[in-house]
Amino acid sequence: MNLILLHDNDFIDQKRAQLRGRRFEHIQNIQRATSGDELRVGKLNGLHGTGTIVSLDSQELEMEVQLDQSPPDPLPVTLLLALPRPKMLKRILQSVSSLGVKKIYLINSYRVDKSFWGSPLLQPENLNEHLILGLEQARDTVLPEITLCPRFKPFVEDELTKIAKGTATYVAHPVAAAPCPHNLNKPTTLAIGPEGGFIPYEVEKLQSCGFIPISLGERILRVETAVPVLLSRFTP
Ligand code: SAM
Repeated sequence: MNLILLHDNDFIDQKRAQLRGRRFEHIQNIQRATSGDELRVGKLNGLHGTGTIVSLDSQELEMEVQLDQSPPDPLPVTLLLALPRPKMLKRILQSVSSLGVKKIYLINSYRVDKSFWGSPLLQPENLNEHLILGLEQARDTVLPEITLCPRFKPFVEDELTKIAKGTATYVAHPVAAAPCPHNLNKPTTLAIGPEGGFIPYEVEKLQSCGFIPISLGERILRVETAVPVLLSRFTP
């Protein structure tokens, strides 16, 4: 945790926050901070700055907060991710949040196991928990937005053109002819397939919306490896 992320309900007045639980334990046991120490803090969806511990006991701490710095720039990539298995999704959410993605669409695909859509992980508060871990890691404060799209065809036919408008559009597909671009510093919409890959029909549907199939080369990567490798190509 490289940033203590504060929520509205942590504030007892405009400049003072009280912490208990996970963040308090991290400050006490990992950072080993004591009264008077300055910590790097941020407000969820707001600025970041410093928090000076004014009191601390075995249960909670109080800090005086000075917020005056902007969060890092977002990554200009909208991610369409075929819903991975829940265990993998947790890790992927943390890494895409750390990498600065702000819009994530979890989409269906023929090779997504139907049971994944019933996972309790897809409750907004559970998704946010993993996104927040990524923000804390990367010293970011802006919570990404996740949209669940459990039907592939209506998503592509009715929504995708609007979502991708004004962006470069790619679908990561190992057998694609075109190599994945480098340093493409412009707004991009990127589709990444499920562990079994997109089926040809899905690639064709995405192509009909202007998506260009791109490949990282002959090595086929697991989704959780492919995601950060692909996103790094779109980092300015
Ligand atoms: N057998 C599947 C196929 O050929 O599509 C493998 C799917 S791969 C494990 C899961 C997803 O990660 C792919 O759908 C793609 O989006 C992405 N991916 C993995 N390796 C890739 C590569 N070398 N080039 C482009 N995308 C890749």
